[in-house]
Amino acid sequence: MSTRPRAALVATTVALSLAVGGCAGEGPRSSSPDAAPAPPPSGTPEPGGAVGTPAPPALPQVSADLAGDLQAVLDARSAAVREADRDAFLAGLVRSPDLRTTEGGYFANITQLPLAAYSSRLVPESLVRSRDAYWGVVELKLQLTPYDVVPVRSVDRYRFSPTARGGFRISSTTDREWEAANLGVQQPWDTEPVLVREGAGVLGVFDSADRREAAGIVASVERGIADVAARVPFTEWGSRAVVYALSDPRFLDSFEDLPGGDPEALDGVAFTVPAGTDDTTIASTRFALSPDLLPVAAARRVDPDLDRLVRHELVHVAVGERDDEVPLWLSEGLAEWVSVQALPPEDRVVPEEALRAARRGIRSMPADDSFNDDDAEVHYALAWWVCEWLTRTYGPDAPWTVLEAFTLRPGDQPRAVVRDLLGFSVDALARRGADLMATTYAEPTTAPTTPAPSVTPPTTTPPAG
Ligand SMILES: [Zn+2]
Repeated sequence: MSTRPRAALVATTVALSLAVGGCAGEGPRSSSPDAAPAPPPSGTPEPGGAVGTPAPPALPQVSADLAGDLQAVLDARSAAVREADRDAFLAGLVRSPDLRTTEGGYFANITQLPLAAYSSRLVPESLVRSRDAYWGVVELKLQLTPYDVVPVRSVDRYRFSPTARGGFRISSTTDREWEAANLGVQQPWDTEPVLVREGAGVLGVFDSADRREAAGIVASVERGIADVAARVPFTEWGSRAVVYALSDPRFLDSFEDLPGGDPEALDGVAFTVPAGTDDTTIASTRFALSPDLLPVAAARRVDPDLDRLVRHELVHVAVGERDDEVPLWLSEGLAEWVSVQALPPEDRVVPEEALRAARRGIRSMPADDSFNDDDAEVHYALAWWVCEWLTRTYGPDAPWTVLEAFTLRPGDQPRAVVRDLLGFSVDALARRGADLMATTYAEPTTAPTTPAPSVTPPTTTPPAG
C-alpha cells in the first residue's frame, strides 16, 4: 500500500518545549582573565552526576560568563558550517578520533545543503555540570534556501569540555537517553551520510542512491514541477520542492502515524516541516519516495508511473496547508486527478478493484479514518473520479472551488459544506463519481469517439499517496 494522508503526517521536529525567551545566550561574552570561577549553573543534576555532591572535582578557570563562552564555541561552529570551513569546524572539537569521524560526517552532510540560515544557540538554563564538563541543550536553526519560508528550529544536547587554555571545546553531541526522550523526527542529514543533488527548483536528498539514480529522481521532479505548476492555481509553493529518497527507513519510521506502520510499504508520502514544536508555522512541505523507485529513475526511458507518483506528491506540496482542514477524499482526489492530466486518456489507468467496486455500486464517500484501509486503492480512484465528475459537470476549476469552500469554512461539517455548495449530499457526490468511472471504463459496445482508458491488471500497484 502506498497511500498517505498528508495532513496527518506532521513532522514534529522536536518534542522539547524550549524556554528560549529567557535565554541569556546572546548577552555580552566578556571573559576577563580576572573573572571569578563561574558558579555551578543551576539545573537538574544528571542521574549519578556531580552536581550537588559534597566535593565536586575542581573546575579549571572559567569566566563568569560561562554561557557566553559556550555560546562563542557554538558561534564558531556555526560560522564554520556556513563558510564550509572544515578545519575551523574540527577545531571546535576535542581530539577524539571517534567524535571527529562522526562530526566530520555531519559536516560533510550539512555543507551540501543550500543554507540560507544556520545558527545554534545555547539554552543557558539547561546547563548541567558533569565532572569537569557541561552538558547543555542547543537550539539549532536551519533554513534551506529557497525551499523553506522560515528557519526550522530543532534541539540537540552537547557536552562542552574545558581546554588547558581556559576555553571550551565540544566533546560530545550524542546523549542517547536525552535524545530518545526529546528528539522527534530527525532530518536524514542528522542521522546518516547523505548525497544532496539540486535541480531546477528541486533539492534531492539521498543515501544509497548512486549518481544516476539521484539524477533520475531530480529530473522526474523537475518534469513534475513544470506540469503541476501549470495545473494547480496556487503560487505560494514557488514551484520548488525538497524530495527524499532514502533506503534507511528511520526517517519515515520516526513518524508516529504512518498507515500500517511500515515505512517500507510506502511509495510516496508528503509531509510538513513545522518551524518548531511551539510554532504552528510550516517551514516547508516536502515529500519522500520509496528507494524501490531508484532503479526505474536511473533508466534511460522516463518511467510514467514514477512521474505520475511524483506529480501526485507535488500537488500536495503545491496545495500546502490549504488542504489541512479538508477531507481526504478531496485532498487525495485533487492529487490523483492532477497527476493523471499529463497522460493521454487511454493511459489513465484505474485499479481493477476500484472499477469492480464502481460497477457494483458505491454508496458513500469514504471517511478519513477508513480512507487508507484495505480498500485504499478503491478510495483513491473514487476520489479522483469525483474530481473528474466535478470538472465535467461544472467546469475545469470546479475541484478547486470545492477546496476553497472548505478553506472558507474551517471546522464546519464536511457534509454541510458539500450540501451547501452543490445542493446534494457528499454520498451522492461519491455515487456520481463512481458512476462516471464505471461508464468511462465500460467495455465499448460501439466504436468509441475517444480512446477508451485502460484498466490496470490486478497486479499493478495503486497510485501512491
Ligand atoms: Zn496523496
